[in-house]
Amino acid sequence: MHSNREPLSATSDEPPSCRPSPSLKEFHSAGRGFWRDVPDADWNDWHWQLKHRLTTLEQLQHLMPTLTPEEIAGTQLANHKLALAITPFFFNLIDPAEEHCPIRRQVIPRIEETHTASWEMSDPCGEDSHSPVPGLVHRYPDRVLFLVTDRCAAYCRYCTRSRLVSNASGYDFHPDFERQISYIRQRPEVRDVLLSGGDPLLFSDEKLEHLLARLRAIPHVEFLRIGTRIPIFLPQRITPALCAMLKKFHPLFVSIHSNHPRELTTEVRDALSRLADAGIPLGNQSVLLKHVNDNAEVMQALVQKLLMCRVKPYYLYQCDLIAGSSHLRASVRDGLGLLDALRGHTTGYAVPQYVIDAPGGGGKVPVNPESVLSRNRDRVVLRNYEGKVFEYIEGANPAPTFKRSENFDMPELV
Ligand SMILES: *Cc1c(COP(=O)(O)O)cnc(C)c1O
Repeated sequence: MHSNREPLSATSDEPPSCRPSPSLKEFHSAGRGFWRDVPDADWNDWHWQLKHRLTTLEQLQHLMPTLTPEEIAGTQLANHKLALAITPFFFNLIDPAEEHCPIRRQVIPRIEETHTASWEMSDPCGEDSHSPVPGLVHRYPDRVLFLVTDRCAAYCRYCTRSRLVSNASGYDFHPDFERQISYIRQRPEVRDVLLSGGDPLLFSDEKLEHLLARLRAIPHVEFLRIGTRIPIFLPQRITPALCAMLKKFHPLFVSIHSNHPRELTTEVRDALSRLADAGIPLGNQSVLLKHVNDNAEVMQALVQKLLMCRVKPYYLYQCDLIAGSSHLRASVRDGLGLLDALRGHTTGYAVPQYVIDAPGGGGKVPVNPESVLSRNRDRVVLRNYEGKVFEYIEGANPAPTFKRSENFDMPELV
């Protein structure tokens, strides 16, 4: 595989971020790599992929002799915090020659995961304190997060839910579907149910269908969504049978999670196409990650490739203050810079909303580059994507046309 890195500069011990390479926007197959002798029927079978996940240091060292001391030490400790698991399919996207490969950084543990700053948390979004019954997070008035499992096809090292996901740290996650469903049934204000975890698409078609049918049977549940990284880690799971089952539960949206254009392979594109052909609107949630996607060319290639896969970039998350993630967190300033590089410079549909999930449990707060330079009763001064300044005249507005929230009123600038 190609390397899209610049040589390390002598004055910096920081790895350089991804240099745009001409192939960043092209679709490639993940390839078979080490598994070239495995029959197609096995390779394309999601059960085979799961069964052959890389989960031990020995397996990693065998396939990747370039493992660094930081990665070896991180992997030895991983199973006490967040388990190591990588599907053979996703592993093939790693360039073993590239120490700072953007795929590698997402799934191979590093010793920095054990470094915890005082402002980092095990439950950064305060989910446990907003959980009325086990496995349900009810933060917003009209919608709930329904955690179905603590397992994923592979484990992202910056996982915001690592306290429970993979069950490595003794959290003992026990969702209770009966209680979760009965909580929703008793609350007519809940019109939107978001299935997540862990990854709901790890369930068998039958088990998932049963759960979706029970939720659909609740008259006030208008809208269902599934949050999943399986189309990226395990596109083989997106079978025609799964898509045929899911399409019975419309309106059903799927939010995928991809962070780097290299993840969007031809296999992934085909899997997303099967979902889209089943009438499922697709969104993507990315996490802003240092040396993975904190670079304008990489981010632009990612969002444009997503559109080519019929996926709308939905959210770009500032990385949560999850314990042991500082080596992967880029700054808010970098995030705002990326948004500035996207807005106006690419298709509006390609621009995600950048959000910070407020530490402690305030929910997602949009963060936007400054576009209103000043505002008073009769004019708004705007900055466009080229930095040019424009004025929008409102005339003398005698009275506000709607009542603002009582605890927040933006001061009028002069
Ligand atoms: C993200 C999230 C939702 C969904 O938020 P949207 O902005 O509607 O996508 C719902 N509940 C919780 C707890 C969440 O974290």
